[in-house]
Amino acid sequence: MRDSGWKTELTKVSIPLIGIALVCALFQVGVWPLLIAAIAACAWLLLQLKKLNTWLQGGMDGEPPEATGMWGQVLDSIYDLHRQGAQDRARLGATVEYLRASFASMSDAVVMLDAAGNIEWCNTAAVDLLGLQHEEDTGRQLVNLIRAPAFLRYFESEKYKMPLEMSSPVNGHIQLSINISFFGQGSRLLFARDVTRTHRLEKMRKDFVANVSHELRTPLTVINGYLETFAEHGGENPRWDRAIAQMLQQSRRMHNLIQDLMLLSRLETLPASEQEQIRMRPLMEMIAEEVSAAAKGEREIRVECDDDADLRGCYAELRSAFSNLAVNAARYTEAGDQITLRWFQDDYHAYFEVEDTGIGIEPQYIPRLTERFYRVEESRSIDTGGTGLGLAIVKHVLIRHRAELRIKSVISQGSCFSCVFPKSLLINKLK
Ligand code: ADP
Repeated sequence: MRDSGWKTELTKVSIPLIGIALVCALFQVGVWPLLIAAIAACAWLLLQLKKLNTWLQGGMDGEPPEATGMWGQVLDSIYDLHRQGAQDRARLGATVEYLRASFASMSDAVVMLDAAGNIEWCNTAAVDLLGLQHEEDTGRQLVNLIRAPAFLRYFESEKYKMPLEMSSPVNGHIQLSINISFFGQGSRLLFARDVTRTHRLEKMRKDFVANVSHELRTPLTVINGYLETFAEHGGENPRWDRAIAQMLQQSRRMHNLIQDLMLLSRLETLPASEQEQIRMRPLMEMIAEEVSAAAKGEREIRVECDDDADLRGCYAELRSAFSNLAVNAARYTEAGDQITLRWFQDDYHAYFEVEDTGIGIEPQYIPRLTERFYRVEESRSIDTGGTGLGLAIVKHVLIRHRAELRIKSVISQGSCFSCVFPKSLLINKLK
C-alpha cells in the first residue's frame, strides 16, 4: 500500500515535469515553463504540509484534512495512531477509576504514597482507622501524620516482609496489622487491617493456656509426690510396682509438658527480659556435659567455640533454647553418633549450631517443626519422652533476640539446627 502511494506520488510529479522538459527541448523555449511547473509542484507540497500542520496544531480535533495519495495515507495513519492512543488512555483511566472505586469500598485502609513518602490518595477506611483526611492530607508526609515510634521505625526501615501490629492512632482499642509494599518507581502502597477480634481471641487463647497450665501444676505436684513416695516404699505388692512406675513416668511427662507450656506462655506474653553477657564457652561446655550424662556417655559430643565474642541476651531463655536443641540431638541419635555444638561468626551474623549424625528429617516435615506439638512421627517422639514443644520454645526465644532458626537435615545422615543472631548482639572480647 505504502509503496504504491509513494510510486503514485512520484509519477504525479515526475511525468508532468518530464513532459514539460521534453516540450521545452523540442520547441527550444528555454527552461521557464519547467521552472514554473517545479514551483507549482513545490507550492502544492507546501499546501499539504500547511494543512497537516494546522490539523496537528489544532490538537487533531475532528477528521484529518482531505488529501489524496501519499499525503492522504500519512494523515490517515497519524489519525489512527491518535485515535488508538486516545482509546488506550480512556481504557487506562477507566481501569484506574475501577481500582480506586474498589479500594475506596474496602474495609481495610489503603494509602498510596509517592517515592518521597507523601500521600497521593487514601480511602475512607484510612480516615477511620488511621485518622487521615482525604483532601487536606494529600501531598503531606505520612510520617508527619502517624507519629507512633513503632510505625516510624517500620516505615523508615523499608523492610516490609513481616506486617507491623500496632494500635490505631485514632482509637487505642483498635488493633491494626499494617502491610507496606513498593510498586512503580519507589511508590508505596500501605494496607491497614483491623485485627482487633483476632488479637482478642489470640490473647484469650494465651491466657487460657497460661491459666490451665498454672492450675494443673499444683494437683500434679501432689500426685507426683505421692507416686514418688509409693515408688520409694514399693515392694509390698509387686503387682503394683509396675503400675506405679508407669504412673510416675506419665506424671513426670505431664509435669514437663506443663513446664514447657508455662514457659511458652511467658515467652509470648511477657516483655523481653533483661540483657546480659552470656559467656558462650562455659555455657556450651555445661550443656555438653548435661547432654552427655543424659545419653549415658554414649554419644561423642564436641564443642567448637570461637572465643572472639560472646552473646548479649537473656541467659535463662537462651540456655533453655540451646539445651533444647542439644537434648533433641541426643534424642534423635543413637549410641556412637556424633553431636557438635558450634559458636562462630561471619561478616553478617553469629551462629550457634547443634549438628548431629542422627536419623535426620525428611525435607517436607522441616517447615512445620517449630509448630506446637508437631512431631515427625508420633510414636517416635513419645518413645523419646519429648513434649513436642521444644522447637516452639526455641523459635520464640530466638524471635525475642531478633534471631532466627535455620534447619538443615538429610534423612539417615543427620541434622543441623542453626540459631542465627544479628551481629549487634555480640560482645567482642579483647584478647
Ligand atoms: P519433641 O519434644 O517431640 O522432640 P520438638 O519440638 O523438640 O519436640 O521437636 C519436634 C520434632 O522435630 C520432633 O518430634 C522430631 O521429630 C524432630 N526433631 C527435632 N530435633 C531433631 C533432630 N536433631 N533430629 C531429628 N529430628 C528432630
